[in-house]
Amino acid sequence: MRVLKFGGTSLANAERFQTVADIVVNNQRQSQVALVLSAPAKVTNHLVAVVEQASRGLDPAPVLAEIEQIFHAIIDGLKQRFERLDDEGLKGQVDRELGQLTRLLQGVSLLQQCPDNIQARILSRGEALSIATMAELLKARGEQVEVISPQAMLLGEGSFLEAHVNIEVSRQRFRDQGLRPDCVYLMPGFTAGNEKGETVILGRNGSDYSAAVLAACVDAECCEIWTDVDGVYNCDPRLVPDAKLLKQLSYKEAMELSYFGAKVLHPKTIAPIAQFHIPCLIKNTGNPQGEGSLIGPECSDDDLQVKGISDLAGMTMINISGPGMKGMVGMAGRLFSCVSRAGVSIVLITQSSSEYSVSFCIHSYDKHKAQRAIADEFALEFKNNLLEPLDVIDDLAIISLVGDRMRTAKGVSARFFNSLAEASINIVAIAQGSSERSISAVIRKEKTTEAIRACHQNFFSSRQFIDVFLVGCGGVGAALLEQIRRQQPVLEAQDIGIRVVGIANSRKMALDRHGINLNEWRDRLEQAHEAFSLERVARLVEDSHLINPVLVDCTSNEQIADQYADFLAAGFHVVTPNKKANTASLDYYRELRRTARATRRKFLYETNVGAGLPVIENLQNLIRAGDQLKAFGGILSGSLSYIFGKLDEGMSFADATRIARENGFTEPDPRDDLNGMDVARKLLILAREAGMELSLDDIEVEMALPPEFDASGDIDSFMARLPEADAWFEARVAEAAAEGKVLRYVGAIENGHCKVAIKAVDGDDPLFKVKDGENALAFYTQYYQPIPLVLRGYGAGADVTAAGVFADLLRTHNWKQEI
Ligand code: ADP
Ligand code: ASP
Ligand code: MG
Repeated sequence: MRVLKFGGTSLANAERFQTVADIVVNNQRQSQVALVLSAPAKVTNHLVAVVEQASRGLDPAPVLAEIEQIFHAIIDGLKQRFERLDDEGLKGQVDRELGQLTRLLQGVSLLQQCPDNIQARILSRGEALSIATMAELLKARGEQVEVISPQAMLLGEGSFLEAHVNIEVSRQRFRDQGLRPDCVYLMPGFTAGNEKGETVILGRNGSDYSAAVLAACVDAECCEIWTDVDGVYNCDPRLVPDAKLLKQLSYKEAMELSYFGAKVLHPKTIAPIAQFHIPCLIKNTGNPQGEGSLIGPECSDDDLQVKGISDLAGMTMINISGPGMKGMVGMAGRLFSCVSRAGVSIVLITQSSSEYSVSFCIHSYDKHKAQRAIADEFALEFKNNLLEPLDVIDDLAIISLVGDRMRTAKGVSARFFNSLAEASINIVAIAQGSSERSISAVIRKEKTTEAIRACHQNFFSSRQFIDVFLVGCGGVGAALLEQIRRQQPVLEAQDIGIRVVGIANSRKMALDRHGINLNEWRDRLEQAHEAFSLERVARLVEDSHLINPVLVDCTSNEQIADQYADFLAAGFHVVTPNKKANTASLDYYRELRRTARATRRKFLYETNVGAGLPVIENLQNLIRAGDQLKAFGGILSGSLSYIFGKLDEGMSFADATRIARENGFTEPDPRDDLNGMDVARKLLILAREAGMELSLDDIEVEMALPPEFDASGDIDSFMARLPEADAWFEARVAEAAAEGKVLRYVGAIENGHCKVAIKAVDGDDPLFKVKDGENALAFYTQYYQPIPLVLRGYGAGADVTAAGVFADLLRTHNWKQEI
């Protein structure tokens, strides 16, 4: 005989009842079926609601009417398909059950509370009606059916609402009664009877357990749990879309997974089937051809160390501590006994090695019972201040890694905790099961999805996501979007998903949690209604549970730069070519790095100096490896590189500037280049990287204009006045040429001093040949001297800068994977 159990979603309407009946009839042809059913979806929740309403003196009639409606719709639907179905009789049964419920609930209303025995009777009605309906349906299809009364056959012990079944006694009852060979057996799930034959229930979601118990009682060859997913996944498929189906699990793995929250199986299900070595198959009612997951004595041959990740929400942690704890013999024993006497089950325990405190997690609904029990047990200790007042933390969840092979694996916990840290999740407590088959971390409930996703990504998935919020879509921003658009399919093929979830300019922000289609970002931005704000963006990250959000700032805006610390604190990486943050006060400079470290986020700004040239990271690597910057000389501005290069070729300064401007090499107002401030900012950033604690005021800046030049007025009048500078430049160029030198606009660091100025350099200088918009940076360090380390190449332009930003973007992830 095989036991088949169908859950509530498999019985949600007439069509699904029919599908279940099809599966049963097909199976019955191969070997005899005993069928265990849940209540149709929502019915048990409605029953819980009516009890609650009646206890508060509210009228449960509207919800009862909904229950009636669910069953009537199922019966009507089935009647349309099966003429022979006794729909009148069935509806009469539904009405009688609901009439009885109404009377019970009247009593509850009067009492303003619902005794557990009555509650058990009320909550069990959904499965009773499921079975009545299925029995009629199977009869209408010509099957012989026999209904098993769980109240008579399964002996429930313990409480009315969370009973467990005494298997030995129940098995004996089945043996005594004997079974008919030719019929389909049907038994309502979730239900048993106590010694007096009164209805008890087996805890929410308990029909799986009913099936396991029945399988054990009738020595079934297999116990099949039919549900709405293809089997047991390595984590909750609702939270992780690419969760993987597990073909095979050991009883122990399944037990740990369900104990720590994998809802697909009730945690009590495994013990009875494991005891009698009954294989258990999890199958999808909507996909009967699928293989499903097989739970048996051994785990499969795959060499997965971590089999699955589960989450259990609705946890409360109680921490008991105090000077009286140390060395108090039997303290833990007293604590856990009193809590368990109160009927509270402890889900997880951790103890500090100093014995100064013990923390444990319970279901939040048990909190008051536990608190009362501890207060009574330790009344004296609390009174004498040997124990501190209980510390109670609500709204927690437990995330657990489960796998038989974890016992022999190294580094699993490190990777687990790292994953949580990468997703900016704070760990409240840690516990490892003594079997070493599970490791658990207690975290805040609202971070559950992020935690599961981050762990899944690190342990199972080769797929990585980067979620981009771009502010500023001028030259560099637009070029970046275009590069991402082009590269998306290439990266996709390497399992890197880059989604641009937000795009903002100075007025508007378009958001889309699934990623904005980059072929139409301009329209999306045009149609947007809201303005950029950290709160709004952070809300989207939270609501969509994004684990790797990156703020990309392609503005040169100071206000946005001022918010980087807040973004980092809120869990974003920050990537930017904007120099404003790194040249702000030293305090802010340090704060950014502190915050990034604390939240384990990256602050990347490779394009601050030399655009796409690999400047910052190289310098950081040198300094980290113990090198020291002795001196530096660099051409750090593409436009000034162009203008000064043209002077060598005999062009006048005014012409060179005009042509540079016309070609878009300068800022719209060339004074923004000629005043040297941009170069000064870059020089300051380099100096700070090299460990110099300087501010912008400390940089000596000589403009790239004659000292007395009048640079006032609007752009046109300034440009018209430029030829007045030509003579001065001509004289300087000639003076330099006489010594075999050329003029360059150089940012230099020497003897701890930073200076930006026009400088005549000779043929031995690495900057001598640098022109036409190229940048060059010469680092004279302890290791690199007398010949400096020189980096040279185009250091400006939207495309190269955007490519540098893109590279930083790809650096926000660690790309760690299980091999
Ligand atoms: P039923 O009504 O059939 O008893 P449940 O809702 O109780 O179904 O359990 C099935 C659900 O369990 C799935 O829809 C899925 O969302 C959830 N679930 C949680 N964790 C897992 C997991 N590791 N594998 C499969 N399903 C899981
Ligand atoms: N109907 C019960 C519940 O919803 C039992 C079950 O479906 O397993 O909790
Ligand atoms: Mg279930």
